[in-house]
Amino acid sequence: MSAFVDEYMAKLKAKNPGEPEFHQAAMEVAESLETVIAKNPQYRDAKILERISEPERVIMFRVPWVDDKGEVQINRGFRIEMNSAIGPYKGGLRFHPTVYLGLLKFLAFEQVFKNSLTTLPMGGGKDGSDFDPKGKSDLEVMKFCQSFMTELCRHIGQFTDVPAGDIGVGGREIGFMFGQYKRVRNEFVGVLTGKGLNWGGSLIRPEATGYGAVYFAAEMLATRSETLEGKTCLVSGSGNVAQYAIEKILDLGGKPITCSDSAGYIYDEAGIDREKHAFLLDLKNVKRGRISEYADKFKSAVYTPVDKAKDFNPLWDHKAQCAFPSAVQNEINAKDAQNLLNNGVYVVSEGANMPTVPEGVNVFVEKGILYGPGKAANAGGVATSGLEMSQNSLRLSWTREEVDARLHGIMKAIHRQCVEAADAYGVKGNYVAGANIAGFLKVADSMLDQGLV
Ligand code: NAP
Repeated sequence: MSAFVDEYMAKLKAKNPGEPEFHQAAMEVAESLETVIAKNPQYRDAKILERISEPERVIMFRVPWVDDKGEVQINRGFRIEMNSAIGPYKGGLRFHPTVYLGLLKFLAFEQVFKNSLTTLPMGGGKDGSDFDPKGKSDLEVMKFCQSFMTELCRHIGQFTDVPAGDIGVGGREIGFMFGQYKRVRNEFVGVLTGKGLNWGGSLIRPEATGYGAVYFAAEMLATRSETLEGKTCLVSGSGNVAQYAIEKILDLGGKPITCSDSAGYIYDEAGIDREKHAFLLDLKNVKRGRISEYADKFKSAVYTPVDKAKDFNPLWDHKAQCAFPSAVQNEINAKDAQNLLNNGVYVVSEGANMPTVPEGVNVFVEKGILYGPGKAANAGGVATSGLEMSQNSLRLSWTREEVDARLHGIMKAIHRQCVEAADAYGVKGNYVAGANIAGFLKVADSMLDQGLV
């Protein structure tokens, strides 16, 4: 570690103790930016990286609600407004029992660079709660969402901060929160994205993150004059991102063979075809069932429950060429990364945020595979949220084809920026450095323009 990274990390850790995910994300960015900051002393003198690492504002609040048994429940709500140099804060809401301040700070920090890469004017933010929607009735979810939004609505707005969905927050939750925002603030505005089509949502928004991760993989493959046609693909997760990554893999002629939830994964050697994919969507979005039910229905599939005693995830230990981690942070450890390479995988496009631990990232980068980090590869979701904001402002709706074409164009632009930034700073083919550098430069220059705020 260089003296610059050393000093930056020592201060960051002292100021933000007990937040390992935030430290991990900051370390990766600092290492990528060493040369940039050495070559551009104006960033160092204005302490741009140090300022980017300090949220502009953090809001933390109590969320009381009453469950179906009449018992009082108390959750904790957060909004991290990380950086508004290039536009209003923007980033998803996560409802999951593991949510705490440090997790959301890591996600908000990543979001700043990701949003910058999208070419759209969006700053970075993230919010959420330790509320777990799993196993709750629709009524309980509604009561929680209403209580959560009763406080959050004081802090967000179409020109200041526009949240969207993330883990545990889909169309149902966005609907309940939008309803409550409208009721309390008495205004119908595009304050959330991921809305229903009847009330200001954009076509392709639900599909965008998964589609985008597959478009990004296709762009990386194109640098080697290859396509996804005929390639076997490993996918993790079975939520929003995984579902539409699988759909786009099928569209582009690939063969998805795995998906998972937090209890286990299925391996379907025959491939997850259109019929099985339709079953998966119904299972997860309507029935809200478990992935094991896929293997009950389709005999070609084998279900393997999570085994915490194992030091690797068997999902990443199947013969394939491509991998789309689309579940959760740190789901690929160093052993998993090595297993992927041993099984022939040479394309990894991250649908999830930071799904690979730093040692795993090093395995991919050293081997020189086509490795697209989350902040570039999964930026299609927030980019299409940006397109939803544009449509809301224009008071019109674009067609499915138009939004998809724009999304595709944005993913190509993100890919190009990563390649060019990596080339310019002497790390050709390194998408991690390319994404961090390109994302940083736009925000850093805007911060310099706007003075010490
Ligand atoms: P989601 O719809 O809630 O799905 C999450 C999936 O991950 C579920 O299948 C869930 O299984 C699984 N999962 C959660 N925790 C897990 C764990 N500890 N181990 C294994 N599997 C686990 O969320 P999503 O929107 O698809 O988000 C997935 C990832 O993509 C996250 O990293 C998110 O930050 C990132 N992302 C999402 C978007 C977006 O537009 N939605 C945009 C950019 C990045 P269970 O149902 O069992 O919990």
